[in-house]
Amino acid sequence: MEFELIERIRAHCSLGRADVLLGIGDDAALLAPPAGHELAASTDTLVDGVHFPQGAAPRDIGWKSLAVNLSDLAAMGARPAWALLNLTLPQADADFVDQFAAGFAELAGQHHLALVGGDTTSGPLAVGVTVLGFVPAGRALRRDGARVGDGVFVTGTLGDAVAGLYCTQARGGAWAQLGDSQRSALLERMRRPTPRVAAGIALRGQASACIDVSDGLLADLGHVARRSGVGIEIDAPLLPTSPALLDACDEATRIALQASGGDDYELAFCASPAHEAAILRDLARSGCGATRIGRVIAGAGVRLLDAQREEIVLARSGWEHFA
Ligand code: ADP
Ligand code: MG
Repeated sequence: MEFELIERIRAHCSLGRADVLLGIGDDAALLAPPAGHELAASTDTLVDGVHFPQGAAPRDIGWKSLAVNLSDLAAMGARPAWALLNLTLPQADADFVDQFAAGFAELAGQHHLALVGGDTTSGPLAVGVTVLGFVPAGRALRRDGARVGDGVFVTGTLGDAVAGLYCTQARGGAWAQLGDSQRSALLERMRRPTPRVAAGIALRGQASACIDVSDGLLADLGHVARRSGVGIEIDAPLLPTSPALLDACDEATRIALQASGGDDYELAFCASPAHEAAILRDLARSGCGATRIGRVIAGAGVRLLDAQREEIVLARSGWEHFA
C-alpha cells in the first residue's frame, strides 16, 4: 500500500533535472550541486489543524507545504532545485494523495523543482518538506547583515492570509459582511501563498539582511534586529495593504493583522539607501513590488509607530508554538 502511494506521488512529480543522478526509488537520492555554489537547505512541517484548518482541500495542503519551504529558500536568495517529502497519513487514502501531489506538483513545476525522495508513514496527518537550493558562494541573504541607516522593506502586501483565516471562522461583524470577491481574494492568500523566489534572487548583493514573514512582521524582524545587533522602527501608515483587506476591517484591526498576523510569506529585508532605487526597480521587474516601511536604528528591538511617531503596542507580535 505504501509503495502504491509513493508511486502516485512520483507520477505527479515526474519533472526531471539533469542534476538528479538518482531520484525516488533507491535508499537515497544522488544529487549533483553546481560548482561555485553553496547548498541552501531548509525544512518545515505542517500539522493538521495547526498550519492548515482541519478539512482543508488536499490540493491546497500540497501547495502550501511546498510554498512555506520555498519561502525560506527565497529569504536566503537561493534558487530551488530539489525537495524531499515526509508524509504522515491517517489512512492509505489514494484520492487524498493524488490531490495533495497535484497541488505540490503545480508549485514545484513553476520553480523547476524535482521531488527526489521522502518517507511515507501512518499516523495523524502531517507533512514535512525539505527543500534544497543553490546560491552563488558568499552571496546568500542572511539575517545578520542589517546596518544602522538601512531602510526596511517588504514585498507584496501584508495581513491578507490571517484575514483569510478570519473569514473561515465565525467572527461576525465586518468579516461576516464581506463580498464574495473580497473573501475569495483573502482566502486565496491563506490557502496558496506565493513564495517570493524571484524577488529573493533579485535581492542578492543588494539587501543587507532578509527574512520571510511567516510568524508575523514584528516577530520576524525581531530576529533580524537581534542577529544584526540593531533596532528597527516600522511606520504603521506605510504597511502595504491589498484592496481586499482595506475595507475588510477598521484601521486598528488591520494594522494589528499586518504587523503580527503572520502566514504572509512575503520577504522583509533591509538595504542601504544607495540600493533602494535599483531594488525597487528590480523587484517590480521580478513581478512583485516592494514598499519601504521603516528604518534600521542603533539600539535593539522592533517598534511599531503611528503617524505621530507614537509607539503602537500590540497584544502580541507574532505566532509562537508552545506559547
Ligand atoms: P527506505 O525503507 O529505504 O527508507 P522507503 O520504502 O521509505 O525506503 O522509500 C522508497 C523510496 O521512495 C525512497 O527513494 C524514498 O525516498 C521514496 N519515498 C518514500 N516516501 C516518499 C514520499 N512521500 N515522497 C517522495 N518520495 C518518497
Ligand atoms: Mg523510509
